[in-house]
Amino acid sequence: MAAEETKQAEVEKQTNCPGCGKPLKKLKIYYRDGKFYCTKKCWIKAKTSKGKEE
Ligand SMILES: [Zn+2]
Repeated sequence: MAAEETKQAEVEKQTNCPGCGKPLKKLKIYYRDGKFYCTKKCWIKAKTSKGKEE
């Protein structure tokens, strides 16, 4: 089974939080700068560690 093909869709449909890398939950989503995060905390985290972590 070629399950790897679905990985390409990640770029378009964001499913993980850039701040902590955890999967986003529908109930708790923080939208900022065109991206989704779980909380404001994660947004700040992702913002401050820009380029630091992959
Ligand atoms: Zn997060």
